[in-house]
Amino acid sequence: MSELAGLRALVTGGASGIGLATARLLAARGAQVAVLDLDPSGARPPLLGFTADVADDASVRSGVAAALEALGGLDVLVNNAGIGAAGTVEDNDDEQWHRVLDVNVVGMVRVTRAALPALRASAHASIVNTCSIAATAGLPQRALYSASKGAVLSLTLAMAADHVREGIRVNCVNPGTADTPWVGRLLDAADDPEAERAALNARQPMGRLVGADEVAAAVAYLASPAAGSVTGASLAVDGGMQGLRLRPE
Ligand code: NAD
Repeated sequence: MSELAGLRALVTGGASGIGLATARLLAARGAQVAVLDLDPSGARPPLLGFTADVADDASVRSGVAAALEALGGLDVLVNNAGIGAAGTVEDNDDEQWHRVLDVNVVGMVRVTRAALPALRASAHASIVNTCSIAATAGLPQRALYSASKGAVLSLTLAMAADHVREGIRVNCVNPGTADTPWVGRLLDAADDPEAERAALNARQPMGRLVGADEVAAAVAYLASPAAGSVTGASLAVDGGMQGLRLRPE
């Protein structure tokens, strides 16, 4: 498939997990793709790797500038870099709150600010933010992470409104628990990782985790000309976790 031929894309956090799957899929569908990551080494050719910390404005500005120079412009920005946090409001101190909101929310703002001038020059401009079902699901033990993703959802809607007349579409994907190195690290930290994985699978409506490639496919759709009338949308890729109202067995 080459429906993204001619498009130039930048994927933050594109060296692992959902971001890497997205970068690979966009490239497989014909886009030229640059990755911006703390450690871009996971993004191999044809992906172009650039180092940046989304929590540092100077680093973002120079990383985005280098990526845009290599791409020769920008059509698709995927704001995907993010970090997790567990616990209730009593478990995370102010420093943790500032850190996670700085990466997950302000990080998207920094990258978007740096990318908007190039997006304005594109005839197929769109932004796809990686949100989460945590934005709206009321998950236990995820107060800080959920608040950060709630902000990503609101930010997506506000950005969609602000830039619609400029021809820039802004959408988000809301993954459920996806099988990425991040989740692998959480499972590895458990006493019995295999049992923990089985229990996690069993809690999913489909009995399995979401594939990173399945989230990537949703991002690729939202970024494609086929989604030309889609903006301000959030697309759940969560195995039915949010939409289905399953009765407890
Ligand atoms: P991951 O840890 O596998 O990959 C995250 C990537 O982001 C890494 O390459 C990392 O180096 C990069 N990154 C982290 N902090 C950064 C920073 N400050 N600057 C630049 N790059 C940075 O994680 P993943 O599971 O693929 O998650 C990607 C996104 O998907 C995140 O926004 C996460 O909140 C979201 N998400 C994940 C899941 C899940 O279950 N895995 C579910 C819902 C949403």
